[in-house]
Amino acid sequence: MSVADNLRQVLADLPEGVQLVAVSKFHPDEAILEAYGAGQRIFGESKVQEMCLKHEALPKDIRWHFIGHLQTNKVKYIAPYVALIHGIDSFRLLAEVDKQGAKAGRTIDVLLQIHIAREETKFGFTPDECRQLLAGDAWKSLSHVRIRGLMGMASNTDDAARVSREFEGLHALFVELRDAFFAGDATFSELSMGMSHDYPLAVRAGSTLVRVGTKIFGERDYGRQG
Ligand SMILES: *Cc1c(COP(=O)(O)O)cnc(C)c1O
Repeated sequence: MSVADNLRQVLADLPEGVQLVAVSKFHPDEAILEAYGAGQRIFGESKVQEMCLKHEALPKDIRWHFIGHLQTNKVKYIAPYVALIHGIDSFRLLAEVDKQGAKAGRTIDVLLQIHIAREETKFGFTPDECRQLLAGDAWKSLSHVRIRGLMGMASNTDDAARVSREFEGLHALFVELRDAFFAGDATFSELSMGMSHDYPLAVRAGSTLVRVGTKIFGERDYGRQG
């Protein structure tokens, strides 16, 4: 199966209103161009340098989503062009994105990452930390960053019931925060959850953005870069 065939298969699984982030990290420009040729415009990367090189080399109408762990000292490199940053996990990082957005003369869309898996990652806010952040006023004065929703990763397990519970929990938090802090404001609209092995469960639980790599591009060759 070609990249284009795989892409069409994933897209066929997605209902109206769910967007696909084609996760192209560690895959070469040619693979991205194949998906681009099949109509895909949103690509996800997890390393700053890799995303910047691809952004320079590839068509300018690609919307680059940063999905990895972002260090504050690297925000400046992606601020001029990034379409959405999925993994905001501290107020400090949010404030830095605001600062670099102002320098670049744009408002940058971001998602707050929530830690929902039991042990897989150390990144992300707990639900309570996220409630506290949004209940405070500090983020409201940041005029060059816009909080568009939440992102999370479920536990890496074959236990589908547990994965579904985690996704449903994140969806419930999304609805709670939207109603509590963004009522009447349509910008808090995105829920990024679901990867190659679990996106059907994520979609059922209310995902609006799935991040799918392996199922489109095949296994990653980590020896290639980084
Ligand atoms: C790599 C990555 C993905 C894609 O994973 P696949 O299993 O290849 O679909 C999705 N989300 C994040 C945060 C990632 O780092």
